Amino acid sequence: MIDLHCHSIYSDGTDTPEALADLAQAAGLRALALTDHDTLEGLERFLACQPRVDTELVPGIELSCRFLGRVLHVLGLFIDPRDAAFRTRIEDMRERRIDRNRAMVARLQEMGVPVTWEEIAALAPTDSVSRTHFARALVNRGAAGSPQDAFRRFIGDDGPAFIPLRELTPAEAARWIREAGGVAVVAHPGRFGNRNFRWDEAMAELKAAGMAGLEAHYPDYGPQEHRYFLELAASLDMVPSGGSDYHGGHKPGQYLGVGTGSLHVPDGVLDLLKARRAAEKV
Ligand code: AMP
Ligand code: MN
Ligand code: MN
Ligand code: MN
Repeated sequence: MIDLHCHSIYSDGTDTPEALADLAQAAGLRALALTDHDTLEGLERFLACQPRVDTELVPGIELSCRFLGRVLHVLGLFIDPRDAAFRTRIEDMRERRIDRNRAMVARLQEMGVPVTWEEIAALAPTDSVSRTHFARALVNRGAAGSPQDAFRRFIGDDGPAFIPLRELTPAEAARWIREAGGVAVVAHPGRFGNRNFRWDEAMAELKAAGMAGLEAHYPDYGPQEHRYFLELAASLDMVPSGGSDYHGGHKPGQYLGVGTGSLHVPDGVLDLLKARRAAEKV
């Protein structure tokens, strides 16, 4: 069993990179990728754990993109966290995230929600602040009953206080990832758009944009959706990747490796991705 998607305190998870490596070892995972949102900050600590665990630790990232006017997440797996050009690009994203966050605080205040930037930033263990921390702050303020309620009423992708990050296209993201030595994978396609979204045509477009795989194994999927994305990957000759999207305490009931309990990403996926990476080498 492997897990190619999780988060640490360097984005919106609650576990340190060391704790994730130890959890992977305890769970008997053959491989674990750390894929924090728009940051490489946790990867040095994560990779430093390699000598003491049997689990193969894979450096990764989850990039926030815009596709068809909505948020699409793209995973970069096996990227080189020291690649200078990639680091500059990610640093630029970090600055844009700070600007976006401040603009979202202003919008919430205009809407009459008296939440402050200091309150939100204090909830983030590192200087990477995301909407997950906004949701907590809104609950603490009594402006929302739960994080889910905060996303639904204010800051979700369709919420009135949501402001997207920069307009990174999937093609640009795939190019950045490939130039940094990695492979690009479409994250949780089942969470994009509504249930009736026609993924067949869109995914062919994303493949042409440079995506080598898609997340066919994901905790939120029902059996039908799981089968659909496995078949879609097969029909487009894309790697059926997957992972738990573990966020620690920010997503209770979700565990590394097994997700909500039934997730199982086959070991063979790792070699398929490595083969794709070798074939694509730029
Ligand atoms: P950001 O990158 O700051 O825009 O925040 C995006 C993060 O917020 C995602 O990675 C999720 O962890 C979380 N998120 C987005 N939408 C929802 C939602 N509807 N319910 C719960 N968490 C969400
Ligand atoms: Mn997240
Ligand atoms: Mn995501
Ligand atoms: Mn994620």
